[in-house]
Amino acid sequence: MLKGKHLIAGEWVGGTTSFQNMPVEGAPDSFAKGEPEHVDAAAHAAEEAFWSYGFTERSTRAAFLRKIAEEIDARGAEITAMGTKETGLPEARLNGERGRTVGQLRLFADHIEAGDYLDRRHDEALPDRAPLPRPDLKMMQRPIGPVAVFGASNFPLAFSTAGGDTAAALAAGCPVVVKGHSAHPGVSDIVAQAIDAAVKACDLHPGVFSQIQGGNRAVGTALVQHPFIKAVGFTGSLAGGRAMFDLCAARPEPIPFFGELGSVNPMFVLENAAANRGKEIATGWAGSLSMGAGQFCTNPGVALLLAGPDADAFEAAAKDALAEIGGQTMLTEGIAGSYHSGADRMAEAASVRSVLKTECTGRTATPFLFSTTAEDFLANHDLAEEVFGPLGLIVIARDAEERLEVARSIVGQLTCTIHMDDADLPAAQSLMPILERKAGRLLVNGFPTGVEVSDTMVHGGPYPASTNFGATSVGTLSIRRFLRPVCYQNFPDGLLPVDLA
Ligand code: NAP
Repeated sequence: MLKGKHLIAGEWVGGTTSFQNMPVEGAPDSFAKGEPEHVDAAAHAAEEAFWSYGFTERSTRAAFLRKIAEEIDARGAEITAMGTKETGLPEARLNGERGRTVGQLRLFADHIEAGDYLDRRHDEALPDRAPLPRPDLKMMQRPIGPVAVFGASNFPLAFSTAGGDTAAALAAGCPVVVKGHSAHPGVSDIVAQAIDAAVKACDLHPGVFSQIQGGNRAVGTALVQHPFIKAVGFTGSLAGGRAMFDLCAARPEPIPFFGELGSVNPMFVLENAAANRGKEIATGWAGSLSMGAGQFCTNPGVALLLAGPDADAFEAAAKDALAEIGGQTMLTEGIAGSYHSGADRMAEAASVRSVLKTECTGRTATPFLFSTTAEDFLANHDLAEEVFGPLGLIVIARDAEERLEVARSIVGQLTCTIHMDDADLPAAQSLMPILERKAGRLLVNGFPTGVEVSDTMVHGGPYPASTNFGATSVGTLSIRRFLRPVCYQNFPDGLLPVDLA
């Protein structure tokens, strides 16, 4: 059952104005609209909660994370029903995403119990060292304080209310204030109920988690500027992320902003792979490109090949495979509108050829395929921008040197992919030093959609893929965003944090 309210420090709080979700089918639901005063109340409660939660034992936080997972699972059917209604995503996808979400929470519970993330170090005192003695030095990672979280429309669970950012921050010992996404307030409402139940069952300070529903952009801007907020985890568009990043940097006390933004995830199909398996790669590309109506930040929007008959055959195979994919419902009307106008812009660009042009209107997306030359791609930076949806651009380079030039020209990416056979090794070796500087994750002979949640995953990359290229928003390493190292010099055991004593 929906509350239709904000959750602020354990209380369900209404508002004077409301907004509605935009269901694919069925009657809309009403939700209290967020206001800056809700932000202030949540941030104060989070700061107060930090003085206990930030000093809890790891086992306490691990139990809390596992309890949240259990409470989400208990509401599984309700979450999926609301998710399909609000986002149009299929039931199987939402069930899978819930599995990933509770899996992340449990993974972080195991991770903090193991304790390696604390990165504990000790330089023993050297009292007799000449010319100067060395003091006893110990170091450990500590939580930074209250964290603000903004989820994305395309992952109503795994990158939203109890998604990766929230799991990482709570695991670190940081209270969380979520700004609910206006595309799926119902899902956010039910997930917040699960977290609320877990906070109460674990007898934690209620300020450890709050959620303010959206419907009002002033909520987001007030949240990132609130003096008690010490970092922001953001998943969303480049435009939104950049606006929030600039606000964080302009604060009297600037704070870190971890924005995970969009990407075109270029795919380099090398000569031998194109000749031997071009059709297979093209078909796989079409599947990855159109999966979930192309609404993935890891969607491989650009494929680069050398000119010749193998590139022509690749294009024909990709066209055939994409033509078979029908219309899919997009997450919101706004996202569908942006997709349609992005496809129109691409079609109108000088030097771009339409390979597959389909008719789609309303909230529906059908795939589009375009082609251009590397020379034109290099001359027109707009062609390298993300169009969020099932749209592919094939870029044809004259020769290997021009291919390197394209690689050098691309901005930061979440992923870059090389399709290669053994005989392509020298070409791949020449690309590698360039691609390594461009992306957080490099793939060979695969497709980037589908991000493993694990110890080695890096989901991030140089700007504009993310605003902080030293970090990842997926996997256990993501906890580092919400920690900072503290050095303790000559501390008696009784004064050290429990984890260091
Ligand atoms: P979005 O429109 O940027 O929204 C994300 C959140 O930011 C929402 O809560 C939104 O509020 C808020 N927001 C955006 N602009 C704002 C502004 N100017 N002032 C205040 N708040 C603002 O992004 P989206 O449509 O949810 O997600 C799609 C994008 O996310 C795509 O570009 C996709 O590639 C990217 N994405 C990236 C990753 C990754 O891990 N790198 C993962 C998933 C998605 P409202 O609720 O008011 O809209």
